[in-house]
Amino acid sequence: MNDFTRAYVQQLDKQDPLASYREEFYLPEHGIYMDGNSLGLLSKRAERTLLESLADWRELGIDGWMSGRHPWFNLSEELAALNAPLIGGKPEEVMVTGSTTVNLHQLVASFFKPDGKRTKILADALTFPSDIYALKSQLELRGLDPSEHLVQVDSPDGRFLVEDDLIAAMTDEIALIVLPTVLYRSGQILDMPRLTKAAHERGILIGFDACHSVGAIPHDFHDWGVDFAYWCNYKHLNGGPGTVGGLFVHKRHFGTTPGLAGWFGSRKDKQFDMDHTMTPAEHAGAFQIGTPHVMSLAPQLGALEMFNEVGMEAIRQKSLALTTYMMDLIEEMLAPHGFFIGSPTDTRQRGAHLSLEHPEAARICKALKKHHIIPDFRAPNIIRLAPVALYNTFTDVYDVIVTLKQIMDNKEYEAFENVREVVA
Ligand SMILES: *Cc1c(COP(=O)(O)O)cnc(C)c1O
Repeated sequence: MNDFTRAYVQQLDKQDPLASYREEFYLPEHGIYMDGNSLGLLSKRAERTLLESLADWRELGIDGWMSGRHPWFNLSEELAALNAPLIGGKPEEVMVTGSTTVNLHQLVASFFKPDGKRTKILADALTFPSDIYALKSQLELRGLDPSEHLVQVDSPDGRFLVEDDLIAAMTDEIALIVLPTVLYRSGQILDMPRLTKAAHERGILIGFDACHSVGAIPHDFHDWGVDFAYWCNYKHLNGGPGTVGGLFVHKRHFGTTPGLAGWFGSRKDKQFDMDHTMTPAEHAGAFQIGTPHVMSLAPQLGALEMFNEVGMEAIRQKSLALTTYMMDLIEEMLAPHGFFIGSPTDTRQRGAHLSLEHPEAARICKALKKHHIIPDFRAPNIIRLAPVALYNTFTDVYDVIVTLKQIMDNKEYEAFENVREVVA
């Protein structure tokens, strides 16, 4: 059924309704970028809004806070409104602030309320390490031993989590659940509505790490009733290296005292009263801490505009078409070379990247880079390939897999050492 020729994929690119967005990005001049799930590329719009904010600083100094082209004092709120449709939240339920790990600290400090028998936090064994470090330190701050109070649900195969296992672990000792929306290695999407419902039926609060899903798949955090979520804006959202992160707090929790308070969490009209008693904002803004990193927020204005223009449904549709075709090509071209596709075949469970497992993965990645193809590597044996809807093409997917086949056929990877680089 599938056509594995370059002419066919070029045809697919011609029919792609999102094709024009590719020209909005700075793509590598020679080569193919497949790492948008780690760091999204710079777009011309993001560059423009950053330069405008820089000009505001140059021309206005302190007055940039209120009178700039993009007044800095409201920038976080403005960006929250652009982030909200991407995660299915009301604008007042979202804030662009902090970073992923800092926001997790803030949310656990605010929503983990050990009470009587309920003193434990439930997480999983495959999640991103920073989340686990944060959860353990939050427990320690409360005088609770993480070896006893952090429950991590295991994966039967090291790739995927089973929702039934997660639900079975929701006992009456659990006060809070923190899970990924999409697993960073395999790209598995967890059934968030089902897990949220199960948690609430058992009287447990649940929050999600949406780093690998924001900008990649649609969400309905508000309607699903998710208690809170947090994410970074530098992966699929192309906000720039280390750009400010995002958080969602469901409306029903408005009024919860922020665990980590700071003056930017104040009601905006009260903030400059300089009172020593804080008046927290009446929405997700309460969970801000200090002065925002303005130059790190500014590129998001341009970057997020595109997501709102296109809409998550169209992005998801193209993303799935790209990863599905990529999977088919891998099976067609790489069958004899011992790769295992460690990502869900079911499109309902698949995020926006594919995880290719191979014992020589570290040096295969180096061989790809020699061909100016940028994948990413996750120890010990995973090559992640993320064909991004806004700037990658079906031809990119085709050329990457054909190059990979050439590397394997000719054993080109043997010229490299099978160890990871410092930033992988
Ligand atoms: C990228 C990523 C992080 C990174 O956290 P930072 O605080 O932004 O460094 C955390 N969790 C997940 C799941 C990620 O993919």
